[in-house]
Amino acid sequence: MPEIRYCRECRRIFHYVTGPVLCDSCRKIEEEEFDKVRNFLKDYPGANMQEVSDATGVKSSKIYRWLKQERLEVSEGSPVALNCEKCGIRIRSGRFCVECSKILAKEMMQARSELQQRLQKGGLSVGKDEFGLYYKHRNDD
Ligand SMILES: [Zn+2]
Ligand SMILES: [Zn+2]
Repeated sequence: MPEIRYCRECRRIFHYVTGPVLCDSCRKIEEEEFDKVRNFLKDYPGANMQEVSDATGVKSSKIYRWLKQERLEVSEGSPVALNCEKCGIRIRSGRFCVECSKILAKEMMQARSELQQRLQKGGLSVGKDEFGLYYKHRNDD
């Protein structure tokens, strides 16, 4: 069942189904803006954020959001700065560099398999103390 939400852009009430919290008309505008930015970057791959924003009339905060969502990618040698949220190295799209993505994925898998082993060993009867140890161990890493 669709929810009633406030549009993030125009604050109008609308029936929210999925995706970004935007009403139909704002969603359409955003898609048009996205196309404008994408087309502009195709023609001027070296443009910086200010130039892209000025030329397309799209707010730079929106362009950053698309970069973070990996809908846009910064070209090689582009002055548009996008940094890995973990190590700060320059990246071209998304939130983390390749190395940090790998580490994060590994950490996540490790945590999952540790938990699985624990559950297999002791069933679901993991005591409070064991959880304490588990967290201590994780923090010591
Ligand atoms: Zn709207
Ligand atoms: Zn990184």
